[in-house]
Amino acid sequence: MIDELRHASVDAVPALMSFFDADHICRFANEHHRQWYGRAPEDLVGLHMREFVGPEAYVARARWLDLVAAGETVAFENTVPHRDGTRREASVRYVPRMGSEGFEGFFVLVVDLAPQLHRYHRIFEATVVAFWEIDLSDMHASFVDAVGTQDPITWLRAHPEFSRDALDRCTVLDLNSRAEHMFGVTREKALATPFGHWCPPACEQHMLDNLVAYLSGKDGFEGETLMRRADGSLLPVHISTAFPRQALTRPAGTFAIMDISERVAREEALAQAHAELAHAARVATLGELTASIAHEVNQPLAAIVTNGNAAQRWLRRPIPDLGEAGEAIERMIAEGTRAAQIISRTRQLATKSASERATIACGPMVAEAVAIVERQISGLGARLRIDLAEGLPLIHVDRIQLQQVIINLLVNAAQAMAGHGSALRIIDVRAWHEDGRVVIEVSDTGPGFSDEQASQLFNAFYTTKATGMGIGLSVSRTIIEAHEGTITADSLPGGGARFRISLAPSGRQSA
Ligand code: ADP
Repeated sequence: MIDELRHASVDAVPALMSFFDADHICRFANEHHRQWYGRAPEDLVGLHMREFVGPEAYVARARWLDLVAAGETVAFENTVPHRDGTRREASVRYVPRMGSEGFEGFFVLVVDLAPQLHRYHRIFEATVVAFWEIDLSDMHASFVDAVGTQDPITWLRAHPEFSRDALDRCTVLDLNSRAEHMFGVTREKALATPFGHWCPPACEQHMLDNLVAYLSGKDGFEGETLMRRADGSLLPVHISTAFPRQALTRPAGTFAIMDISERVAREEALAQAHAELAHAARVATLGELTASIAHEVNQPLAAIVTNGNAAQRWLRRPIPDLGEAGEAIERMIAEGTRAAQIISRTRQLATKSASERATIACGPMVAEAVAIVERQISGLGARLRIDLAEGLPLIHVDRIQLQQVIINLLVNAAQAMAGHGSALRIIDVRAWHEDGRVVIEVSDTGPGFSDEQASQLFNAFYTTKATGMGIGLSVSRTIIEAHEGTITADSLPGGGARFRISLAPSGRQSA
């Protein structure tokens, strides 16, 4: 009875079930073969697997056949010829049968994926999310070639340029109508264009992180970045990628893409308002500074002119009175020195008087400054990497002033990289504790600067930008020095600039 039921069940399942021996000759086929192949199961017994799947597909299955012969159960997706003349997408499973002599053959289970695919296509088309299905096989092959025996993740981190090449190698297998609409392209045209075309430099880092997540065995990856529409305009998007759980014969990835331009526009307006406010505050300070300097310096300047005139008169006499002229010149020098003192005192006053010091934790202060300009930075195509050490000692500072300094460094870094057209735009923000000081560092992968420029960076009104004011770094230095700290700039050997702020801790316990 049990045996009878077992037999009946095998014939009743709406899936192909068969057994092939070690030479890949069919020894058993269930009833469903009649429906699928249009041939009686008994006519199929004795045929070689090549005749079931076709010569090319048989060669392509070599990998799976080797694995099952080694005693492993394998599952994959592939196409199987159907009696209606098409090749149907199917889920295939090989289960080895091991006897006392070892491998005797394997059971085959083939399930038609058409109904599932149909459902999937309906979802694929109906959703508000844009889907791109990408063929990753070329990229996969070039990656395997390049990495060789090295650790893939370490290799990728050392070769970020691989991202561009990889994207250009990916072909588009499919996209839904939402994707056509979002990117302003027809399906036909998209299928003929490499995926890299839709990925501007700003999205290379995202794709690299995506690849690292895939190689680290994660289920998926998501993040925000920019993509390019057919008309060349940039589109802020949220991308989520699900990685296939089992190895497929053809590695493919599906990217689900959501247009987040409205949200980004709102955030940008907010960030712009923030930046304008910070700028206004900076300009106001400068305006006040200039006004008070002009006022204070007016007096010594007038005295210098008066004494200069007097010296000239003493010298123009028929017999020049050198003594009087010398005294007038000495008074000019004294007034000049006084003017210089007034300027430096006023600058000190300007930073100190507005200063409201508090004992705060360094990490959140830096993180907040970063958050204010994050949008602006990514709009310039740069990516931020933040590494703030835990448990840093507290610092006694004017939070707003210090944040102004950090914001200025971040914006400068992003502008330098964008202005230079750098392919890789990364800003590293780090903070750590070293030799009893708290160090905050902002470095970039931009053009850096020459030694000659380095000596001028912190000078007021030194700028290389068409619309620059050249006071950012000068005010930054005044602020840091008012905090008994130092700020230094280096050009990095491989390109890029590095600014370091060093501050004394407040002397209290760390947060
Ligand atoms: P501004 O930004 O208005 O030019 P700053 O004082 O902030 O004024 O900067 C002065 C100059 O220093 C810049 O114009 C630029 O030439 C140079 N500079 C600042 N930051 C960087 C950087 N990260 N990489 C290269 N050059 C920089």
